Amino acid sequence: MVDPAATDAAVSPGEKKRSPRKTFGIPEGWIARGFVFEVAWPDDPEAVARIRSHFGGRRFAYNWALAQVKADLDAKKLDPAHASVPWNLYALRKRFNAEKATAAPWWQENSKEAYSTGIADLCVALKNWKDSKSGARKGRKVGFPRCRSKRKDQARVRFTTGVIRVEPDRRTITLPVVGTLHSLESTRCLERLAATGKARILSATLSERWGRLFVSFSCLVAAHPYQAPTKGGRAGVDLGMRMLATVVDDAGTITEVPNPAPLRATLTPRRRVGRQMSRRIPGSIGHRAAKAKLARLDRRVVHLRREAAHQLTSWLAGTYSEVVIEDLDLAAMKRSMGRRAFRRSVSDAALGQIRPQLTYKMAWRGGALTIADRWFASSQIHHGCGCRLVEPKKLAKQLVCATTGELVDRDSNAARNLRDWPGDASCSSVGAAAPKPSSPAGSGGGLGSDAGASDAGGGSVRPLQSRKAAPGEARTRKGTPRRGAA
Ligand SMILES: [Zn+2]
Repeated sequence: MVDPAATDAAVSPGEKKRSPRKTFGIPEGWIARGFVFEVAWPDDPEAVARIRSHFGGRRFAYNWALAQVKADLDAKKLDPAHASVPWNLYALRKRFNAEKATAAPWWQENSKEAYSTGIADLCVALKNWKDSKSGARKGRKVGFPRCRSKRKDQARVRFTTGVIRVEPDRRTITLPVVGTLHSLESTRCLERLAATGKARILSATLSERWGRLFVSFSCLVAAHPYQAPTKGGRAGVDLGMRMLATVVDDAGTITEVPNPAPLRATLTPRRRVGRQMSRRIPGSIGHRAAKAKLARLDRRVVHLRREAAHQLTSWLAGTYSEVVIEDLDLAAMKRSMGRRAFRRSVSDAALGQIRPQLTYKMAWRGGALTIADRWFASSQIHHGCGCRLVEPKKLAKQLVCATTGELVDRDSNAARNLRDWPGDASCSSVGAAAPKPSSPAGSGGGLGSDAGASDAGGGSVRPLQSRKAAPGEARTRKGTPRRGAA
């Protein structure tokens, strides 16, 4: 494969929707917000075919553009002077429009947005691969884009122009070419904003998941002056799997938010349906029925998880003016720690959703989110005593104080340590004034700043002074002995 730097690939502008800040600034006083509504499949078989045709059109354009890129790379290998199509939406779309009459003679059946979405998606995939290769993108290595098969493709299409409306009856959504769709839930939350000019719809994505149809809108919404939290104060939040969150506030009140662990609850029926499916002939009515049953279980799990995360983060943002959470290395937790059942429950708790949600919700309320240092051993240090707690067995709920031998609740102790972070939580007495981290001006506050963006780092306030390891004290991972000498 030819080095991508050798091709004259421009940075793709195709990721307009994923990072609106890069292509245009959000106007002062506005925030970016998404709205999702489930819609019914139309009764008219022709309308259903039209929707499916759009999904297929998007997939076709993706594969077509990928073939173009691959052909260019091969040609360049043979002849370095070969003029490739630049890897950006405009150039690839222009080439597609020039060739669609022969490559896709049926192109008029779908909205041009179907093809545009496919090419834009490929540009994002190419950019991700390039960035991953050069080291500009963190995380797991991204492979070179592959041809999308009909079976595995995420059926969706994004409309950015044309008639995109939420009708005043609050049940009807109008999209270009596809026409009207009946929403299964009230669209009031968006309709009332759009009707008064407080929301501008930038794009609408029609997608299929679990055999159901969803329309998601990405909008600019006038920033709403949320009321400041009534209770205020600072809270430490320990995220976990036994309890989704254990919250301790300034007054020392402990609030425990249970973890619904929806996957664990559905494991038995999932196994049964999975077995049913494997015993039936693919393509048969029975196989399809079992598949639909499995999809229904999946959908319920995803929705319960999302709901639990939203309720927790909304409550935290609406109650406290400052929230301290841990910087969990979830990827490492899922990869390495212990039994498979443990790793499964890490994924099931969906802890990864909480930080991004808290980031934008705290910003809306004008609150501050503090992320404690990743190496801060919040569950190891005995709050108010300073000893290193002894674990009777791995991941035990009750830990033992090394000095007095009393039993200490792991989660609430960790939450107290986080609340007082980065003050010297290990040596101070309970409730001692913890120095508040100096919050860099401009971050975390400001309604319009970056609310709605889903990157985890966004509006969080990261204290400037991070806890440095004392001389002679090794900087170790959380969960291993750390303060043995103290
Ligand atoms: Zn102790």
